[in-house]
Amino acid sequence: MKILEDRIKKDGRVLGEDVLKVDNFLNHQVDPQLMQEMGDEFARLFDGEKIDKVLTVESSGIAPAIFAAAALNVPMVFARKKKSITLSSESYIADVYSFTKQETNHVMIDKRFLHEGERVLIIDDFLANGQAVTGLMEIADAANAEVVGVGIVIEKTFQKGRAMLDEKGVHVESLARIAAFEDGQVVFAD
Ligand code: 5GP
Repeated sequence: MKILEDRIKKDGRVLGEDVLKVDNFLNHQVDPQLMQEMGDEFARLFDGEKIDKVLTVESSGIAPAIFAAAALNVPMVFARKKKSITLSSESYIADVYSFTKQETNHVMIDKRFLHEGERVLIIDDFLANGQAVTGLMEIADAANAEVVGVGIVIEKTFQKGRAMLDEKGVHVESLARIAAFEDGQVVFAD
Protein backbone atom coordinates (compact mmCIF):
# COMPACT_ATOMS: atom_id res chain seq x y z
CA MET A 1 0.00 0.00 0.00
CA LYS A 2 1.80 3.04 -1.35
CA ILE A 3 0.64 5.64 1.20
CA LEU A 4 1.67 3.34 4.05
CA GLU A 5 5.10 2.70 2.53
CA ASP A 6 5.56 6.45 2.02
CA ARG A 7 4.59 7.08 5.63
CA ILE A 8 7.02 4.43 6.87
CA LYS A 9 9.79 6.05 4.81
CA LYS A 10 8.90 9.46 6.22
CA ASP A 11 8.24 8.65 9.88
CA GLY A 12 9.56 5.15 10.61
CA ARG A 13 12.74 4.77 12.63
CA VAL A 14 14.83 1.63 12.54
CA LEU A 15 15.97 0.47 15.98
CA GLY A 16 18.83 -2.00 16.07
CA GLU A 17 18.73 -4.95 13.71
CA ASP A 18 15.08 -5.75 13.42
CA VAL A 19 12.67 -3.29 15.03
CA LEU A 20 10.81 -0.48 13.29
CA LYS A 21 9.42 2.30 15.43
CA VAL A 22 6.24 3.85 14.03
CA ASP A 23 4.93 5.63 17.09
CA ASN A 24 4.27 8.76 15.05
CA PHE A 25 1.24 7.30 13.22
CA LEU A 26 0.45 3.81 14.56
CA ASN A 27 1.84 2.81 17.95
CA HIS A 28 1.45 5.93 20.08
CA GLN A 29 0.13 8.90 18.10
CA VAL A 30 -2.42 7.51 15.64
CA ASP A 31 -3.33 8.90 12.22
CA PRO A 32 -7.07 8.21 11.84
CA GLN A 33 -7.22 9.01 8.10
CA LEU A 34 -4.47 6.51 7.41
CA MET A 35 -6.18 3.95 9.70
CA GLN A 36 -9.39 4.41 7.75
CA GLU A 37 -7.67 3.85 4.42
CA MET A 38 -6.00 0.76 5.86
CA GLY A 39 -9.30 -0.54 7.21
CA ASP A 40 -10.89 -0.08 3.76
CA GLU A 41 -7.96 -1.88 2.15
CA PHE A 42 -8.29 -4.85 4.53
CA ALA A 43 -11.99 -5.06 3.69
CA ARG A 44 -11.13 -5.02 -0.04
CA LEU A 45 -8.42 -7.68 0.36
CA PHE A 46 -10.80 -10.04 2.17
CA ASP A 47 -13.78 -9.20 -0.02
CA GLY A 48 -15.79 -12.32 -0.80
CA GLU A 49 -15.05 -13.94 2.57
CA LYS A 50 -17.85 -14.14 5.09
CA ILE A 51 -16.47 -12.47 8.22
CA ASP A 52 -18.38 -12.23 11.50
CA LYS A 53 -15.80 -10.59 13.71
CA VAL A 54 -12.35 -8.99 13.76
CA LEU A 55 -9.89 -10.11 16.47
CA THR A 56 -6.72 -8.39 17.61
CA VAL A 57 -4.50 -8.00 20.69
CA GLU A 58 -4.31 -4.86 22.77
CA SER A 59 -3.01 -2.28 22.40
CA SER A 60 -1.34 -1.61 19.06
CA GLY A 61 -3.66 -3.82 17.02
CA ILE A 62 -6.76 -1.95 18.12
CA ALA A 63 -6.53 1.07 15.80
CA PRO A 64 -6.19 -0.83 12.51
CA ALA A 65 -8.58 -3.56 13.71
CA ILE A 66 -11.38 -1.16 14.55
CA PHE A 67 -11.20 0.50 11.13
CA ALA A 68 -11.16 -2.89 9.41
CA ALA A 69 -14.18 -3.92 11.48
CA ALA A 70 -15.97 -0.68 10.59
CA ALA A 71 -15.30 -1.24 6.88
CA LEU A 72 -16.59 -4.82 7.19
CA ASN A 73 -19.49 -3.71 9.36
CA VAL A 74 -18.78 -6.31 12.07
CA PRO A 75 -17.70 -6.09 15.74
CA MET A 76 -14.06 -5.97 16.80
CA VAL A 77 -12.79 -7.84 19.87
CA PHE A 78 -9.34 -7.29 21.32
CA ALA A 79 -7.61 -9.86 23.48
CA ARG A 80 -6.55 -8.39 26.79
CA LYS A 81 -3.01 -8.88 28.04
CA LYS A 82 -2.39 -10.07 31.58
CA LYS A 83 0.94 -10.66 33.32
CA SER A 84 -0.46 -13.49 35.36
CA ILE A 85 -3.82 -15.06 35.20
CA THR A 86 -5.81 -17.52 37.23
CA LEU A 87 -7.42 -20.04 34.93
CA SER A 88 -10.99 -19.11 34.40
CA SER A 89 -13.79 -21.05 32.79
CA GLU A 90 -15.12 -17.74 31.47
CA SER A 91 -12.25 -16.88 29.10
CA TYR A 92 -10.11 -18.35 26.38
CA ILE A 93 -6.43 -17.86 27.20
CA ALA A 94 -3.18 -18.19 25.23
CA ASP A 95 0.47 -17.44 26.00
CA VAL A 96 2.17 -14.91 23.74
CA TYR A 97 5.88 -14.18 23.82
CA SER A 98 6.40 -10.53 22.97
CA PHE A 99 9.14 -9.94 20.43
CA THR A 100 9.64 -6.30 21.35
CA LYS A 101 9.22 -6.58 25.14
CA GLN A 102 10.89 -10.00 25.44
CA GLU A 103 8.40 -11.29 27.96
CA THR A 104 5.49 -13.70 27.91
CA ASN A 105 2.01 -12.33 28.37
CA HIS A 106 -1.19 -14.22 28.71
CA VAL A 107 -3.86 -12.92 26.38
CA MET A 108 -7.50 -13.58 26.99
CA ILE A 109 -10.88 -13.16 25.34
CA ASP A 110 -14.07 -13.50 27.32
CA LYS A 111 -16.17 -16.43 26.11
CA ARG A 112 -19.13 -14.08 25.72
CA PHE A 113 -17.42 -12.41 22.75
CA LEU A 114 -16.29 -15.37 20.65
CA HIS A 115 -18.55 -18.23 19.65
CA GLU A 116 -18.49 -21.58 17.94
CA GLY A 117 -18.81 -21.33 14.16
CA GLU A 118 -17.93 -17.63 13.96
CA ARG A 119 -15.66 -16.68 11.08
CA VAL A 120 -12.96 -14.32 12.30
CA LEU A 121 -10.39 -12.09 10.66
CA ILE A 122 -7.24 -11.52 12.74
CA ILE A 123 -5.63 -8.08 12.40
CA ASP A 124 -2.34 -6.95 13.94
CA ASP A 125 0.07 -4.06 13.55
CA PHE A 126 3.23 -6.13 12.94
CA LEU A 127 4.07 -9.66 11.91
CA ALA A 128 7.49 -10.69 13.21
CA ASN A 129 7.76 -14.25 14.52
CA GLY A 130 4.03 -14.81 14.50
CA GLN A 131 3.53 -15.24 18.24
CA ALA A 132 0.63 -12.81 18.63
CA VAL A 133 -1.22 -14.25 15.63
CA THR A 134 -0.60 -17.80 16.85
CA GLY A 135 -2.04 -16.91 20.26
CA LEU A 136 -5.18 -15.53 18.62
CA MET A 137 -5.45 -18.61 16.40
CA GLU A 138 -5.22 -20.83 19.49
CA ILE A 139 -8.01 -18.83 21.11
CA ALA A 140 -10.16 -19.09 17.97
CA ASP A 141 -9.48 -22.83 17.92
CA ALA A 142 -10.49 -23.21 21.55
CA ALA A 143 -13.76 -21.42 20.76
CA ASN A 144 -14.31 -23.58 17.63
CA ALA A 145 -14.33 -20.38 15.61
CA GLU A 146 -12.81 -20.35 12.14
CA VAL A 147 -9.91 -18.09 11.15
CA VAL A 148 -10.72 -16.75 7.69
CA GLY A 149 -7.44 -14.88 7.34
CA VAL A 150 -4.83 -12.63 8.89
CA GLY A 151 -4.41 -8.95 8.00
CA ILE A 152 -1.13 -7.31 8.95
CA VAL A 153 -0.19 -3.64 8.71
CA ILE A 154 3.59 -4.16 8.55
CA GLU A 155 5.14 -7.54 7.84
CA LYS A 156 8.86 -8.16 8.29
CA THR A 157 9.43 -10.89 5.74
CA PHE A 158 12.87 -11.70 7.14
CA GLN A 159 11.41 -13.00 10.41
CA LYS A 160 9.73 -16.36 10.89
CA GLY A 161 6.04 -15.47 11.15
CA ARG A 162 5.04 -15.30 7.49
CA ALA A 163 6.65 -18.63 6.53
CA MET A 164 5.05 -20.29 9.54
CA LEU A 165 1.57 -19.04 8.59
CA ASP A 166 2.09 -19.94 4.91
CA GLU A 167 3.03 -23.45 6.00
CA LYS A 168 -0.26 -23.70 7.89
CA GLY A 169 -2.13 -22.57 4.76
CA VAL A 170 -3.38 -19.35 6.39
CA HIS A 171 -4.52 -16.54 4.06
CA VAL A 172 -2.25 -13.63 5.04
CA GLU A 173 -2.47 -10.13 3.58
CA SER A 174 0.03 -7.44 4.58
CA LEU A 175 -0.26 -3.77 3.68
CA ALA A 176 3.52 -3.22 3.73
CA ARG A 177 6.21 -5.88 3.50
CA ILE A 178 9.70 -5.13 4.72
CA ALA A 179 12.46 -7.32 3.31
CA ALA A 180 15.35 -5.86 5.31
CA PHE A 181 16.76 -2.97 7.23
CA GLU A 182 19.98 -1.73 5.63
CA ASP A 183 22.06 1.03 7.21
CA GLY A 184 19.06 2.19 9.17
CA GLN A 185 16.89 2.33 6.03
CA VAL A 186 13.81 0.29 5.24
CA VAL A 187 14.00 -1.96 2.17
CA PHE A 188 10.52 -3.04 0.99
CA ALA A 189 9.85 -6.46 -0.53
CA ASP A 190 8.70 -6.64 -4.19
P1 5GP B 1 5.17 -11.49 16.63
O1 5GP B 1 4.13 -11.90 17.60
O2 5GP B 1 4.76 -11.69 15.19
O3 5GP B 1 6.50 -12.10 16.91
O4 5GP B 1 5.38 -9.94 16.82
C1 5GP B 1 4.31 -9.10 16.56
C2 5GP B 1 4.02 -8.22 17.73
O5 5GP B 1 5.22 -7.67 18.27
C3 5GP B 1 3.18 -7.08 17.26
O6 5GP B 1 1.92 -7.17 17.89
C4 5GP B 1 3.91 -5.83 17.65
O7 5GP B 1 3.27 -5.21 18.73
C5 5GP B 1 5.28 -6.28 18.09
N1 5GP B 1 6.31 -6.01 17.07
C6 5GP B 1 7.04 -6.93 16.38
N2 5GP B 1 7.95 -6.35 15.61
C7 5GP B 1 7.81 -5.03 15.78
C8 5GP B 1 8.49 -3.87 15.24
O8 5GP B 1 9.42 -3.95 14.42
N3 5GP B 1 8.04 -2.65 15.67
C9 5GP B 1 7.03 -2.51 16.54
N4 5GP B 1 6.67 -1.27 16.89
N5 5GP B 1 6.37 -3.57 17.10
C10 5GP B 1 6.76 -4.81 16.71
